[in-house]
Amino acid sequence: MKDIIIIGAGPAGLTAAIYARRADKSVLVLEKETFGGQITHSPKVENYPGFISLSGNELAEKLIEQALNLDAEIELDEAKQIIDHGDCKEVVGENDTYTAKAVILAAGSKHRLLGVPREEELTGAGVSYCAVCDGAFYAGKDVAVIGGGNSALQEAVMLSDICKSVTLVQNLAFFTGEPKLLEILKAKDNVRFIVSSVVCALEGTDELTGIVIENTETKAQTSLPFDGIFVAIGQQPENEPFADVVPLDAYGYVMADESCTLSDGIFVAGDCRVKRVRQIATAVSDGAAAAVAACRYLEQA
Ligand SMILES: Cc1cc2nc3c(=O)[nH]c(=O)nc-3n(C[C@H](O)[C@H](O)[C@H](O)COP(=O)(O)OP(=O)(O)OC[C@H]3O[C@@H](n4cnc5c(N)ncnc54)[C@H](O)[C@@H]3O)c2cc1C
Repeated sequence: MKDIIIIGAGPAGLTAAIYARRADKSVLVLEKETFGGQITHSPKVENYPGFISLSGNELAEKLIEQALNLDAEIELDEAKQIIDHGDCKEVVGENDTYTAKAVILAAGSKHRLLGVPREEELTGAGVSYCAVCDGAFYAGKDVAVIGGGNSALQEAVMLSDICKSVTLVQNLAFFTGEPKLLEILKAKDNVRFIVSSVVCALEGTDELTGIVIENTETKAQTSLPFDGIFVAIGQQPENEPFADVVPLDAYGYVMADESCTLSDGIFVAGDCRVKRVRQIATAVSDGAAAAVAACRYLEQA
């Protein structure tokens, strides 16, 4: 039995592992997909204090190296359920079942889908959720970025250096991302902006050939040809499998305050928690708070 099992190897989970190992607790981190979490999708991180500019992958590698150097165990397995037996918590994974005295849930969030017909079928055939991963496939082509927040603007900046043209399609009448990013995009000849419009259909048989957008005010529909679209309309948490042991709000985020404490031996950290700002800085802050709270719990138990 481990002292602490951490679900999710993003910045929050890896920070929790670093803090817990430095307190000499045995730690197992379970990761279902990408070691390093969401930030691995970011081409450039320029707002994480201490690093002027680095890629999300570089930051993720540093976090993983630091956790491994401290002898944290990190396994590729998807946690499917937490069973709370009091002093012992059982985490049922896809490959194995693990036990620990405490659990830190740091499952982050994933890309929100557009929710239009055939989205899943065309994913990887013109529909993408990650410019860093798939941008190079669209070199010299016409693409759209759907969304208007920071992620959408960052993706558009990156794609505008590779693609023939980039069209931003935003549902609101304005963009909600950083004004500085918007300025960069406005200065580019190959970027255009469509506001107050939602994607209502995807065109193309085996591969995407375009989209149909609907103006939210006039309801007029327009068909636009694209070689690819990048969907960047926000994130959704991945907490449903744990809903029986952790309280969730209406959007599926874990309801816990900055103490990151839920119940005896169950803690939460990072983007999967209810909070105003979802960033690396706030995720690592939660990771530290959750690990310290978990260590205190273990010492008092
Ligand atoms: C394109 C993009 C650009 C960004 N740019 C910036 C930036 O410049 N600066 C900044 O501060 N922030 C940025 N962010 C936000 C930042 O990445 C997140 O705030 C941060 O990664 C949150 O960390 P986390 O550990 O809470 O969650 P995540 O990074 O989401 O990590 C959670 C991990 O848990 C895993 N997981 C989920 N469920 C399970 C399960 N059941 N079993 C096992 N593992 C599971 C997931 O696979 C994931 O790896 C960006 C995000 C994106 C998508």
